[in-house]
Amino acid sequence: MTSESYRSVVLVKQVPDTHNVTGDVMTKDGTMNRSALPAIFNPEDRNALEMALQVRDKHGGTVTVITMGPPKAADVLRDCLYRGADRVILLTDRAFAAADTLATSYALKCAVEKSGAFDLVFCGRQAIDGDTAQVGPQVAEKLGIPQITYAESILELKGREITVQRTLDLGTEIVRCTLPCLITVVASANTPRPPSARKRIEYKLAATPLELAALLAKWPEFKTEAGLQKHLSERNQLIPIWAAADIGAEPEKIGLAGSPTQVHKINFVVLESAASKDIAPTREGIAAMIEELVKEYIVG
Ligand SMILES: Cc1cc2nc3c(=O)[nH]c(=O)nc-3n(C[C@H](O)[C@H](O)[C@H](O)COP(=O)(O)OP(=O)(O)OC[C@H]3O[C@@H](n4cnc5c(N)ncnc54)[C@H](O)[C@@H]3O)c2cc1C
Repeated sequence: MTSESYRSVVLVKQVPDTHNVTGDVMTKDGTMNRSALPAIFNPEDRNALEMALQVRDKHGGTVTVITMGPPKAADVLRDCLYRGADRVILLTDRAFAAADTLATSYALKCAVEKSGAFDLVFCGRQAIDGDTAQVGPQVAEKLGIPQITYAESILELKGREITVQRTLDLGTEIVRCTLPCLITVVASANTPRPPSARKRIEYKLAATPLELAALLAKWPEFKTEAGLQKHLSERNQLIPIWAAADIGAEPEKIGLAGSPTQVHKINFVVLESAASKDIAPTREGIAAMIEELVKEYIVG
């Protein structure tokens, strides 16, 4: 590592593919049948990973990826290895279940600290399931570092200072801050690189300790899970699992116990078209429509 290289941590989330919700997915009580949707890499987290990889490609350093989720979330971590991440970590424990954004960001903050010294933390702007865009800013707050949200590009990264262009509804903003800092990345920031065929071969055995039995069934020549685990760990192919105790998380700050948010009721909203009116495609028709919209305080 040179003095100009950067240690990045990227927080990624596996989410149900809510962009493709079909009739089967919504239940009668308005909740979502998550198992009916494929699990995907949260789209803006791929942009966050790409930004971190570009920093490493340009300046040197490392990219560590952390996800908190069920054991199946190892799939997004493998995807990160195929795209070029150096190190991946799965946070999984029943004690993390039913976490709201406060409990989620606390667990992630503990994991980032445990992962070692860092210069930059990257998150997606927002997850497509929870949709709050709170986790990134909350992690920054809990780590006690500055945050730059809605980042579109890094204009300059030099020494301990970073200059970033943010995209906002009404234009752009350029901000500068000192490292370490946390950056949340928008979809327009970059085009994420695809998984590389070479990396897929390199990491074809990458697995968590929870996946060893299934892997052994496919590769019986390793004979025992212990033998397979040793083989993987010697080749940087064992995806570590951290539980609450491993990251030193206080039990009352994680999972349900650490989540002040309560969901009291879920409404299934069906939007129905109300009365409609035909407008003649003429100057007079359009003028009459605008006059009516102004009169009804809809515009103006
Ligand atoms: C009362 C309540 C109970 C809940 N119970 C559950 C539950 O049992 N199981 C469940 O899965 N969800 C549960 N959730 C949802 C869960 O709180 C959110 O999914 C989670 O806190 C992230 O919030 P978000 O999806 O709005 O992420 P955002 O704030 O929109 O995410 C922004 C960015 O933060 C990072 N990030 C977010 N979440 C993670 C993560 N898990 N790992 C790594 N990086 C991440 C990503 O970079 C992401 O792009 C519950 C929510 C509430 C309010």
